[in-house]
Amino acid sequence: MKAAPFAYVRPTRIRDVVAELAAADAAGGGKVIAGGQSLVPVLAMRLGRAATLVDITSVDELRQVGVVDGELRIGAGIRQRRVEREHRGAVPLLSQALPWIGHREIRSRGTVCGSLAHADPSAELPAVATCLGATIDVAGPDGRRQIPATEFFTGAMATALGPCDLITSVRFPRPQEGEGFGFGEIARRHGDFALAGVAVAVRSDGTEPVRATVTSFGVSDRPQRRELPEKLKAAVAAAGPDASALATHLREATEDMAADVVTTEGDPSGSPAYRRRLIATLAARELVRAYVASQSRRTS
Ligand SMILES: Cc1cc2nc3c(=O)[nH]c(=O)nc-3n(C[C@H](O)[C@H](O)[C@H](O)COP(=O)(O)OP(=O)(O)OC[C@H]3O[C@@H](n4cnc5c(N)ncnc54)[C@H](O)[C@@H]3O)c2cc1C
Repeated sequence: MKAAPFAYVRPTRIRDVVAELAAADAAGGGKVIAGGQSLVPVLAMRLGRAATLVDITSVDELRQVGVVDGELRIGAGIRQRRVEREHRGAVPLLSQALPWIGHREIRSRGTVCGSLAHADPSAELPAVATCLGATIDVAGPDGRRQIPATEFFTGAMATALGPCDLITSVRFPRPQEGEGFGFGEIARRHGDFALAGVAVAVRSDGTEPVRATVTSFGVSDRPQRRELPEKLKAAVAAAGPDASALATHLREATEDMAADVVTTEGDPSGSPAYRRRLIATLAARELVRAYVASQSRRTS
């Protein structure tokens, strides 16, 4: 199949992108195109249409990436592979998650912000953004605004963006002392979208975990964030210094969490019951990994 006919514009300033989106909205609907890794297949298979494509790859203002005020700020023109190669370790959870996205060729074209805007329930980056409490910067017809990632994803392929809104950048907080992270997913083959996955952040004060956030993905219409600090604290107390026993002590808590977060109806690749088992197992494993890392990131 081929995409339905569309007009194509390539503005060079953010305000012109927003103006083009507003003009397109009045004349049948427009879409931002960034890396095209999700949008082009959607158009080619006629799962969606756009009267106008607004290409943002010539907007210099969107090509900024770097650490500002304790956050890694990634402009909407920045490809996933660039963050993976040039900003490795700036945000450990992001570095852990990026290699799981498709294949290197996909990441060489796909943008970080494009993945957030696309909001696939099985995508890695929305889960990382939700787990870390990232902030999404948006430009629209009424000016600029910031949306917390925890409020950005509103359903499957649905976000808080309006039809004329552009994500300009996303800001991920840099790790603090005493924080550790874990990321894991199960897919049928490497590069496939996840059947189930978790992004985990733990913060420890002394040996005590004071924060334990688990964000599950691939099992619901959007990333599901849950806080388990008391459960982790109890498991650490029960397991003592034996890290290998910790996952066993966590299993009941992660099974309860999995029963709560898995709402998918299932598909030929996995029933809801199977996905609950995956989430419970992954969450216990990655909580242990994140807790151990949080201990080694303490300076006193
Ligand atoms: C074979 C294959 C395997 C893949 N595997 C995975 C995977 O395992 N995990 C995963 O997460 N993804 C996967 N992807 C998707 C890939 O990560 C895409 O790059 C990503 O989802 C979208 O980024 P993009 O820059 O290509 O966006 P585009 O395809 O250009 O756009 C996607 C959507 O986001 C909107 N959009 C893009 N940028 C903005 C912006 N700045 N502001 C507002 N709206 C915007 C577009 O209008 C469109 O609706 C895969 C893709 C392919 C082709």
